[in-house]
Amino acid sequence: MNIVKFVFNPIQENTYLLWDESLECIIIDAGNCSAGEDSRLTEFIAKYGLKPVMAVNTHGHFDHIMGVNYLKQTFGVKFALSSKDEYLRATAQQSCAMFGIAAVVDVPEIDIDLDSVESIKFGNTELMVIKTPGHTPGGVALYEPQSKQLFTGDTLFRESIGRTDLPGGEYGTIIRSILTNIITLGDEVTVYPGHGEKTTIGHESLYNPFVVEAINGEINY
Ligand SMILES: [Zn+2]
Repeated sequence: MNIVKFVFNPIQENTYLLWDESLECIIIDAGNCSAGEDSRLTEFIAKYGLKPVMAVNTHGHFDHIMGVNYLKQTFGVKFALSSKDEYLRATAQQSCAMFGIAAVVDVPEIDIDLDSVESIKFGNTELMVIKTPGHTPGGVALYEPQSKQLFTGDTLFRESIGRTDLPGGEYGTIIRSILTNIITLGDEVTVYPGHGEKTTIGHESLYNPFVVEAINGEINY
């Protein structure tokens, strides 16, 4: 599986393009929000002869979702998001304005509800859908078990975790998601977060202060 990262929009969000030998590709967390960012994506797709089949989202925050409509209009991709984040999809425009970003955010309806599927497929590749609520109620991580690559959205970052003070966030829930559903995948797993640099579960178990204090039982959650 091939992975390329784009950093898009004023929130510096990571958008990942994944493809395999079939040349089918998916876009995780399409955050492109300008003509220039749209072009960077389409030019890459054209250069490698890729066929986009799905826009899939780890969660519904506007900075992760604002490019989905462009992909739908341009490539006719299916849109996968948990229905538990529907309230964020529906209010993405207002959220974007609240952050002071002048962009039109028109997000299409959900085609595939990640709350009710165990995996998603493209080409010859299957990604497991792992529920990780806490940053948002419908948050998921996407995991490719053969290559041990995990896309965590805003649940787990390199040496940090996602904020839980936005509507629908909850600290105890995100910590339980990380300890139960992410850390247990194994130290060698590579983590591709929604912001910042990639990391590994092994690194986070040792150096992520939020994970370390939870593992050591230093906080109640
Ligand atoms: Zn988020």
